[in-house]
Amino acid sequence: MILTGIGVTEKIIIGTACVLREIPKTAAVPVLGIEEFRTALETSRKQIEALISSVPADQGAIFASHLNFLEDPEFTQEMAKLIEQEGWDAVRAVEKVSGDLQQSFREFEEPYLQERAADVRDLGERILRNLLGKEETDLSRLQEQTILVAADLSPSQTARIDGAHVTGLVTEQGGSTSHTVILAKARDLAAVVGCTNILASVQTGDSLIVDALSGTVIINADPEQIQIYRDKIQKLEAEQESRQNMIPVQLFRTDGRQVVVAANIGSEEDARQALEKGANGVGLFRTEFLFLDRDRMPSEEEQYQVYRRVTELFAGKSVVIRTLDIGGDKQIPYLLMPAEENPFLGVRAIRLCLKHEELFCTQLKALLRAALAGDLKIMFPMIGSLGELHQAQELLRRCKAELSGAGIPFRENLEIGMMIEIPAAAIQADEFAREVDFFSIGTNDLTQYTLAVDRGNPELNRLYDFMHPAVTTLIKHTIEAAHRQGIPCFMCGEMASSPEAIPLLAGYGLDEFSVNLSDISRTKMILLKQEGIRHFR
Ligand code: PEP
Ligand code: MG
Repeated sequence: MILTGIGVTEKIIIGTACVLREIPKTAAVPVLGIEEFRTALETSRKQIEALISSVPADQGAIFASHLNFLEDPEFTQEMAKLIEQEGWDAVRAVEKVSGDLQQSFREFEEPYLQERAADVRDLGERILRNLLGKEETDLSRLQEQTILVAADLSPSQTARIDGAHVTGLVTEQGGSTSHTVILAKARDLAAVVGCTNILASVQTGDSLIVDALSGTVIINADPEQIQIYRDKIQKLEAEQESRQNMIPVQLFRTDGRQVVVAANIGSEEDARQALEKGANGVGLFRTEFLFLDRDRMPSEEEQYQVYRRVTELFAGKSVVIRTLDIGGDKQIPYLLMPAEENPFLGVRAIRLCLKHEELFCTQLKALLRAALAGDLKIMFPMIGSLGELHQAQELLRRCKAELSGAGIPFRENLEIGMMIEIPAAAIQADEFAREVDFFSIGTNDLTQYTLAVDRGNPELNRLYDFMHPAVTTLIKHTIEAAHRQGIPCFMCGEMASSPEAIPLLAGYGLDEFSVNLSDISRTKMILLKQEGIRHFR
């Protein structure tokens, strides 16, 4: 059977499906009573005990607290009371008591107590899975050549994927520039999103061919089809191999200005790979990805160590580190952000950081300290008004003063830039360019906000077009405004690696193309074909 979706990576693979199905909604399950509830509690207890003995001691402590909740009269006994004395279905009782207790923890002032809500949610979900007989799929331990199939995966789930064994991802939802796709690209997965009906058509254990170039997914292919795809894979790999000679290449315009091909990264490991693949710098470090695959916020010291090591790896090259862009499709469970009607238009990125100054300043201090290690530049995301930029700059000044007062060494004179990803900022690019050291155009958001097209909705994929004249007009205007004011203009959205867009952007005079790890050599190769661009090794 052949299905189609949106192919988002330059990869074709053959592997075995692992289907992740969601817990059904309450109404769709049979009534479950006290006996099933007690069995589910016992299974949960055994699972948690097994987990505690299999993880390092510090992680074990988190699960030990789950065991305590299992004994807590306000938790499981309250559930049992609803089921036994008030005749509630066990699923509804677990959802209600777990939901209420999460809410009470959220209302505490102390962050330590607020964080307990995430533990309660985790435990509640475990009991529900056991009640409903749904096995938990541990994304960090899967067989080799696994292709994950799901309705959708959150960026946190994608961050947990075991890259050594998972080679592909097929989802029913998701647009081409969603953060799940961006993470899948960084992990070099063959990814097809927006593949309608995949869940109804495939079972765990089925063989799958995923052609992420064309967006084709073939379920249980016959030997002839498999051979055709083996040949295609060989050809594609040979083509990718032939780009290896691009690794040491540096590109320059005839006037001597460098055209930088930098990397978009989300971790220290990505930074290492970016260097190996020939990146001339880091154009975007999505620091929020450091916050995804864990249960607690990283401390200033932890952040400092990562930022410093990445900057040292890229000695002599520019490393643009973006301050937190949380919100939108990147929800961080332990930060407990209230649900919003329109998260992409809500308290996201700089808006969230300006509201939670402590979170922001912890990061800014880590960055200011790490900047002593090299050319670390700080970049603010989602700036829509001069007022927001001024507020962020003011907090940066305050962090410098506090570090100074405490006698902690940091770099005073680092470059500060901003993303241009809201149309208002692009339109006012001249005003902004007078106040920052560089721009970086985020076309993923600039396109969705200019065209009012959700970047994560596969149904709107045809309308999501960064080559739309309205978007390219804003991009051209932004680059010209930057150059008028004497600052460079970078791009770190997915458009920077698009073969059809690169010639246009090079013609506009874009200074830096920051792309995913897998696109570095191809981007250099296309740039080299442009008039007025030469290379040196
Ligand atoms: C963008 O919006 O283009 C961008 C690079 O930021 P993100 O994809 O993380 O929103
Ligand atoms: Mg963005």
